[in-house]
Amino acid sequence: MPKKVPMRSCVGCGEVKEKRMLIRVIRTPEGVVRPDSTGRANGRGAYLCPDPACVAKAEKRKALNRAFACEIPHEIYEELRRQLEREGPPGGAADE
Ligand SMILES: [Zn+2]
Repeated sequence: MPKKVPMRSCVGCGEVKEKRMLIRVIRTPEGVVRPDSTGRANGRGAYLCPDPACVAKAEKRKALNRAFACEIPHEIYEELRRQLEREGPPGGAADE
């Protein structure tokens, strides 16, 4: 029997994937939205594919605005996209 892995859906494309394949984005209590590289930071989380295209889709759908119940400025999405371009897909090194 296959081991049960946690699944999450990307707020950009809506695809359901293994949680470890997605980037967790959090909104800190200070109101800062940023990628959570540890996957363990406190705060509300949303998940995105490590793909700048999904960040663009999320912005078009205002997905993070909904996920965090607040207005997310364009700059935040831009910053996320830049970080994804820089970091690429998660290697899973820091996970579990
Ligand atoms: Zn996606």
